[in-house]
Amino acid sequence: MKVQNPSGPGKLEEVSEEMRLLSNENTLRAGYDVTFYNLDIAFDARGKSLSGWVEIRGTALRDMDSLQIDLHSNLKMDELRFQNRKGTQIDFSRKYRAVVFAVPQRIRTGEKFSLHVKYHGKPVIADNPPWKGGTVWKRDNNKNAWLGVACETEGASVWFPCKDLTNDEPDSAVMRYTIPDNGLTAVGNGTLEEVKVAGGNRSFTWRVHYPINLYNLTYYVGDFVKIEDRYVGVEGDELQLSHYVLRENEVKAREHFKKVKENIRVYEEVWGPYAFYRDGFKLVESPYAGMEHQSAIAYGNKYKLDLYGLEDYIMLHESGHEWFGNAISAADLADVWLQEGITTYGESVYLERQYGQSIALRHLLMYRMMIKNKRPLVGPVGLRYFDFKDGDVYVKGAWVLHTLRYQLQNDSLFFNILRTFYQENSLKVTDSKQLVNTVNRLSGENYDWFFEQYLYRNTVPLLEYQIENNTLYYRWIDVDTAFDKLRIAVKIEGVDEFYSLIPATAIKKVSLPKGAGTDVVSFGNSYTLFGYNSSNKLSGLYQ
Ligand SMILES: [Zn+2]
Repeated sequence: MKVQNPSGPGKLEEVSEEMRLLSNENTLRAGYDVTFYNLDIAFDARGKSLSGWVEIRGTALRDMDSLQIDLHSNLKMDELRFQNRKGTQIDFSRKYRAVVFAVPQRIRTGEKFSLHVKYHGKPVIADNPPWKGGTVWKRDNNKNAWLGVACETEGASVWFPCKDLTNDEPDSAVMRYTIPDNGLTAVGNGTLEEVKVAGGNRSFTWRVHYPINLYNLTYYVGDFVKIEDRYVGVEGDELQLSHYVLRENEVKAREHFKKVKENIRVYEEVWGPYAFYRDGFKLVESPYAGMEHQSAIAYGNKYKLDLYGLEDYIMLHESGHEWFGNAISAADLADVWLQEGITTYGESVYLERQYGQSIALRHLLMYRMMIKNKRPLVGPVGLRYFDFKDGDVYVKGAWVLHTLRYQLQNDSLFFNILRTFYQENSLKVTDSKQLVNTVNRLSGENYDWFFEQYLYRNTVPLLEYQIENNTLYYRWIDVDTAFDKLRIAVKIEGVDEFYSLIPATAIKKVSLPKGAGTDVVSFGNSYTLFGYNSSNKLSGLYQ
């Protein structure tokens, strides 16, 4: 199986001025740290609109006279007030999503403050959620409203005012969602604190007790039935499971969702304990395929065991994100492979443990065929860059880890590295450099050459080889000269065993036993990510 290996990096997807502004960490946004969001939002399903108040609490990181928050231009800001809903009203100016204003008095370094925004409007409707996201306004088969939001690429400011930068997670959040009192339920992340009926409306108050990245803060409205379950974790803690499914699917869901406990158990065993015990865990039936909304996973996979008849892909993948994506979040989507690639590799680790190595390999080889190598795995910083059409952050990301595992030749070290990376960065934002540092520190060797190739270049190493007079000549092309330690497995026709080779940019050779075929070579595609080309000139160039 050959790996596609284009000669030059592809062009980046166009990033709009709106997203450039949104992603730019200017001084107006870098000057403060958000500690808490309090969302108090009412939904009008018929009008596809929402309205309410949002409180943003922050701490000044430097003296500030002016600052910026973000809100999509579809949404009208009715009031902006300082310190409380009745506090001084603040004038503001808007460009795209950037809302810029001077505060009534200078906020000193270390000082806490709060902003209160009253707003309303019709938020962006998702074209193709969750990939091209926004809000979703659907009806179930019984014509009940069925609502949700998915905004990983678009940013949370498509539906509420916030400091919409991926590197600033609040420490906790409260969401009060108000809907007509007609039997439907509004679900948020974390735990349900209160249900209140007043004036023909019903409000549901949810609390998240942990840091949460903003695209994970979410809502679901629907004719939901709650399914309670419990799980005892690897360290003996009890985790409350409270799934919410459409009434018509209750029977199916009760049976199907039992499996998620197995998903959680294996991930806990492999990566370490689930990070959000106080918030519980739930799957919520969503009007789109899925999303890793922290402790409130969007589930829209129609109760299928679509992975080899054994597992539900959405349950397996999205619950895996609780470790990589939610507990650990990429500080910038440039490093989103840390979320998608490690979670995708986690699927194969899960399959390996539950069903054996051959099914895990089948899974990985399926992903290998999808690798495009159009662009480096690590994307441009500061652009909120995440191109869903290019799945390399998933599939190549998984293969970078698989390749590293073979390179280390030591599974306990490999898993210790990922467990340590998880534990040390849990409830924080992080980046690729942190992972590379963890690999170098725990292995006691420098793997910069490895990550330089696989994360920051779009091509994968290309092996050029020739068999002549029972000798295999080989070398890497299109790699840095420092790339000379990667171990690959090669199998030659007529020879029983795999050869373990460590090529370099200089031509190397190895003698083959008599009877070896001259041009039939198969490579250890199950272990390492690289491409290969035969050549008829290497023997002549060898010296
Ligand atoms: Zn994912």
